[in-house]
Order: sequence, then structure tokens, then C-alpha cells
Amino acid sequence: MSHKWRPATTFVHGGTTRSHHGETSEAIFLTQGFVYDSAEAAEARFKGETDGFIYARYASPTNDMFEKRMCALEGAEDARATASGMAAVASAILCQLKAGDHIVAARALFGSCRWVVETLAPKYGIECTLIDGRDLGNWERAIRPNTKVFFLESPTNPTLEIVDIAGVARLANQVGAKVVVDNVFATPLFQKPLELGAHVVVYSATKHIDGQGRCLGGVVLSDKQWIDENLHDYFRHTGPAMSPFNAWTLLKGLETLPLRVKQQTENARRVADFLADSKKIAKVIYPGRADHPQADLIAKQMSGGSTLVAFEMKGGKAAAFALQNALEVVKISNNLGDAKSLITHPATTTHKNLTDEARAELGISDGTVRLSAGIEDAEDLIADFERALETVSA
Ligand SMILES: *Cc1c(COP(=O)(O)O)cnc(C)c1O
Repeated sequence: MSHKWRPATTFVHGGTTRSHHGETSEAIFLTQGFVYDSAEAAEARFKGETDGFIYARYASPTNDMFEKRMCALEGAEDARATASGMAAVASAILCQLKAGDHIVAARALFGSCRWVVETLAPKYGIECTLIDGRDLGNWERAIRPNTKVFFLESPTNPTLEIVDIAGVARLANQVGAKVVVDNVFATPLFQKPLELGAHVVVYSATKHIDGQGRCLGGVVLSDKQWIDENLHDYFRHTGPAMSPFNAWTLLKGLETLPLRVKQQTENARRVADFLADSKKIAKVIYPGRADHPQADLIAKQMSGGSTLVAFEMKGGKAAAFALQNALEVVKISNNLGDAKSLITHPATTTHKNLTDEARAELGISDGTVRLSAGIEDAEDLIADFERALETVSA
């Protein structure tokens, strides 16, 4: 009865089922299909009269364990594991919309998520309005009679802005729209969008859920009715299914997520405090610091800070590059949520496809740097930054 467990227990045991061998670790079922005892049994399975698997594009045992563990963590009734985070996002958005519908989305989105709503959806006649999601008034003003989906990410990438999920959900419920939350930055440990009133939660499991840089994955979670009416057929027939091997890797990742994320968050906080005192840094944005502009909202909707830190080098791009090149423990990589500390310069990497104006709207300047804190010793990370900052002029 996983729903009675506290999170740390659910991260380890939620959703586990065992074969007749009674294996300790979850088994990997690398099988495309399943055999039936008789033609009648196959018929009954296809009619839905008996439980069981049919084809790995629809569902399979290891994926089922991963989905059930995620459901237990999120308080969701049902889920579908996908091959990547983007497969989860694209499926969650497109499965519930048709030509003539309208999306309102917070403009501070992961690059590919923004492409899905801003560029892909309009090709199919689905209109999209992008807003500054921090102001609830913007959500309300963007509503049209055909608005069906509100889409947001909180905290956002890379400038760690916060959207009031409960507030957006209240507005959505007034007009019968569904709120889809990309909860990657908050992790399943620190924010529960469904409890805040959101209807659908999506993850890139590639990030903290794997947490060790090994494989891609994603998941869409919601209530049973929404999945049955929207995602079930879309998922079966368009085929974004996760590999069972990846589902197994991600089950292993979930076991240690709380330990990793707590350590990463503590490291991020300590590095953020150190960077805030540097004369070469104009500002530090960290959701766990009292000087975050939305500290009150963070306290209300999150139970922890963040494994990410954004900061602004006074010396612009040259200083941001010099800093990255001088770091030794911290690696230059656009990934995040990893056990290894990773640093990136959004303007030239993750957000290079945006116009200068769009970047400015998001608060991304040439001096903006994003750190994803790993699980190393915080003292070594601080020493790495201290030494690297000395090499940066101005
Ligand atoms: C990485 C990421 C995605 C996309 O996930 P992939 O697994 O890379 O496809 C979506 N949203 C956010 C916030 C992310 O960080």
C-alpha cells in the first residue's frame, strides 16, 4: 500500500512487483511482446476482459513498476512512461488538443517545450499565447473562449522564476482548461503540482530521476479519466514508449533521488551564498535564498530550494566563458540534475535559438550562467569557484 508510505520509502519500494523468483532488485523485462496460453486467452486480453500485457509499445512490466512508483510519489492515478522528457511534453500537450484550440503558456520554458507550443502547435491550427507567467493577471487576460490548456514550468530554466501553480489552476478551473506542469526543476521531492490543483504533471526523467547521466526518459501523470480520454490512445498509436531497460535504470535512480537531491540542494545553496559575496558577480538567483524576488511563493508551494543556481557575471560573455574554462571539478555541460556539477552559458547554448529580445524578456544576458549542483563535497565546489573567479578579470 505505497500511498501510506512517506516519500523516502516510496522512492525505494513504490510500485515494485516481483516474479516467481522473488528477486530483490526490480527485474528488467526486455521483451517486445507476450504469449498467451490459448487463442481464447488472447481474445480476452484484447477485449480487456483479463489483466495483462499485450505489446511493449502499450505497456510492459518494468515500465509499469516505474509508472506506479511515479504515481505513488505524485499522488496521480495513472501515468505513461515515455522515451524522453520531450516525448512526455509533446504527448501531454498534443493528445488533448485539436485545431481551433488555444494554449496559454508561460514564456519561460525549456527551449524544446517552447518550440512545441510556439512553433509546432500552430502548424496544426492550435493557437498559443506566451506570457510572463509570474503575474496571475497575465494568465487571466490571455484566456479566450477556446483556451483548453495552460502550460508552465516552475522554477523556470534558467532564471529560476516561480509561477503560482495553485493560482493558475484556480483560473483554469473557472474556464474548464487543464493545467500541465513541467516539474523537472522542482523534482518529485520538492513540489507536488497535482496537490496544488494542476491536472497533468510531466517530467524529463533524464534529469534528477536518473541523476547519473545515463539515459533519457520521461513520464506523464494525471487522473485516470484524463489518461483514458486523452493520452491512452494517443500513446498507443504514436509510440513514444520508454525502453524497459531505461525504466529499470530510472527505478534505480528513484531509489536514491532524495539523498542526491538533498545533497545537491545543500551544495547549490552553499555555492549560491559564496557567489553572492563575489565582486565579479552582479546577482545570484537561488530559490532557497531570502533575496529571491518570489521567496514568499516559494515557501508556499515548494518544500525545498533548488539544485540549480543562476548568476550574472559583471564581465558579460568574456567573464562567463573565462569562469567556465577555469573550473576543474565543475564540468561544462548543458545537462542538469546530475551527480556531477555542471555549468552552462544559456545565451550561447540552451537558449541560443531565441531572439535577443526573447532572451532579454527571460532575464538571460550575455553574463548569465547556470549551475546544476552535483553531489560532490561543497568545500571542493566552493574552492573550484574561488580559484576560477580569481582568473576572471573585472
Ligand atoms: C530536459 C528538460 C526537458 C526535456 O527532456 P529530455 O529528456 O531532454 O527530452 C523538458 N523540460 C525541462 C524543464 C527540462 O529540463
